[in-house]
Amino acid sequence: MRIGILALQGAFIEHEQALQRLGVEFVEIRQLADWQPETLDGLIIPGGESTVQGKLLRDLGLFAPVQAEILRGLPVFGTCAGLLLLAEHLNNDERQHLATMHITARRNAYGRQLGSFYTEAEFKGLGQIPMTFIRAPYIEAVGPQVEVLAEVNGKIVAAREGKQLVTAFHPELTGNDSVHKYFLNMLN
Ligand code: GLN
Repeated sequence: MRIGILALQGAFIEHEQALQRLGVEFVEIRQLADWQPETLDGLIIPGGESTVQGKLLRDLGLFAPVQAEILRGLPVFGTCAGLLLLAEHLNNDERQHLATMHITARRNAYGRQLGSFYTEAEFKGLGQIPMTFIRAPYIEAVGPQVEVLAEVNGKIVAAREGKQLVTAFHPELTGNDSVHKYFLNMLN
């Protein structure tokens, strides 16, 4: 099993550490030459800044090939900014990025006061898990094909559609690898 980790910007090293703990091989995607989807079983899009990652994907010529592969069924796991890159709509931003998942997300949804916080909440099938939010989005609306996996304060913070998984929080920062294991189980 081999996972590609988009390593243009943001918290990709923490995803690498999670995969290392789980004994899973990975490759960093930094430029078009690194993009060999036939060698990948899945892709992780990390947290960071969605606008920066979106721009770099376009500038590096990665945008269309990555989008095409996700639409063809390559499993993908997006955390925080990664969620925003996969969302079909951002309702407080006119931008749209890969837009492969039928969700509407709100950027920086918790405002300045609660920009970053830690909580524990139920994740479907995993029980209570730790969740670290950093200037996080939440999901405001989901299409009929989307399964809601976790909510915090009545807001959707994790969801799945087919082989696409997103979390508004950063499971890679908690030391609890259960969401990564959930993703790896989706690859079979
Ligand atoms: N606020 C960031 C954005 O809009 C996301 C923050 C994160 O990934 N931790 O892209």
